[in-house]
This record gives sequence, C-alpha cells and structure tokens, in this order.
Amino acid sequence: MSLLELRGVQAYYGRIEALKGIDLKVSEGEIVTLIGSNGAGKSTTLKAICGQVKVRGEVLFDGNLMTSQPPHRTALRGIAHVPEGRRIFPRLTVKENLEMGAFAVRERKLVRERMERAFNYFPRLKERCGQPGGTLSGGEQQMLAIARALMMKPRILLLDEPSMGLAPLLVEQIFRIVQELNREGMTILLVEQNAYQALQIAHRGYVIQSGEIIMEDAAGKLLASEQVKEAYLA
Ligand code: ATP
Repeated sequence: MSLLELRGVQAYYGRIEALKGIDLKVSEGEIVTLIGSNGAGKSTTLKAICGQVKVRGEVLFDGNLMTSQPPHRTALRGIAHVPEGRRIFPRLTVKENLEMGAFAVRERKLVRERMERAFNYFPRLKERCGQPGGTLSGGEQQMLAIARALMMKPRILLLDEPSMGLAPLLVEQIFRIVQELNREGMTILLVEQNAYQALQIAHRGYVIQSGEIIMEDAAGKLLASEQVKEAYLA
C-alpha cells in the first residue's frame, strides 16, 4: 500500500484550475520527485497534500482520507511540509526555531534527543544554535527549515525546491542530506526545478505540466528520456 496517494486531485485559485486531476503515489521509504517548469503546479500539489489549498478528489495518507484537512491536522498525522523560500522564524534563535518544530512534543527529553539528531545531520546549525535564524545564510536557513520539519518526526517530508537560490556546492550538500535521511527510512516527496539532480537521487519521478501529470517512471528512465532531456535537462 502507498503511504501517500493522490487520486484525481483538482485545485483552483479562483477560476484558474491549477491542478487538473493529479494521480500520484509515494510508497514508504521512497524518494519521489515531481519536476516541471515554472507555474506547472508543483508547489500547489504539495499544498494540496498538506491542506493549504482546498481540493477536489482524494488525498489518502496511510490509508486515511485526508482531503482538505487543515495543515495542523496533516502535520500531526506526520506530513511535514518545507515550503519554498524556507520560512523560518527570523527573530528566533536556531534552537528556538527547532523547538517550534516540536511544538506538539510534550516531553523535554524527546525534544532534546531530536535536536541532537538534527544537529548530527546539520552540524553547522549546532555551531549557530544561539544565533537568530534571520542572520543565517541562505543555505543554513534551508538546513534549518528541514531540521525544524524533522523535529516532529514526520512520516513523510514534502520538500519544495530546497535547492532554490543556493550555490552549487550547497545544493549538493542539501541533496546528500536528503539522500541520507532517506537511507535512514524517511519517505520524501521532492519538488524541484533542478530536475537533473532531483532525478539522480530519486527512485521515481513524475513530470507535471500545466496542472497535469504527463509522465511518470523510474528516475533512471526519466533521466534517459529524450522528452525529459529536451524540456527539463537542457
Ligand atoms: P514554480 O516553480 O514557479 O514555483 P510551480 O510549479 O510550483 O511553479 P504553482 O506555484 O503550483 O507552480 O502554481 C501553479 C499555477 O497556479 C500557476 O499558474 C500560478 O500562477 C497559479 N497560482 C499559484 N498560487 C496562486 C495564488 N495564490 N493565486 C492565484 N494563482 C496562483
């Protein structure tokens, strides 16, 4: 059974139909990537999953119908969304940002343990633990956004363009960490414009165009496809 499944998901912004019936599945333990050009509907798909936009159709998570549940509910069920543009709390310190990520965790010991785990993935954040989030570099803020999402021990991580605006070395680092998280069992749905790198770490991929899935396949197959090469890997 898939951990996450979208069936015929439609989303509207006023009269604009941003998603025109999306079917998509993510199994436990997979990295699945959703690639497509600007405005294709990638971010909207993630927002549809975590309940930030109202949709028609079905969003199933772990066998439960979750369609249009509000974000705090989907978060408590284990869906962590790391939005585009890394929205951290700029005035709060790194440590406080991480604590906010664990808002639903009562046990202090658990919060400390998870923070240590997050620091293992992102040692840089440990060094900057008392620094306001807003003073971190772009790459560090992206790391903080991911680390904060991990604090609630999600079952799936929805990553919206984690590579955006980052220098190539940092992009590589972020992708390596995503892969490492996955090796340790995290299921990941990765939205990227950086199709080449996304397909290199993903197991499977979907191509979205104007609100519709136009291709789906093993990541290796998509990387080799002439159509994908021409449109997204140029
Ligand atoms: P990008 O890579 O540029 O972020 P995307 O694939 O993530 O693109 P979406 O952000 O999902 O695309 O947008 C899909 C479509 O919906 C676009 O045509 C966009 O203009 C429109 N759209 C997105 N958000 C809104 C909104 N709040 N109000 C109206 N239209 C919107």
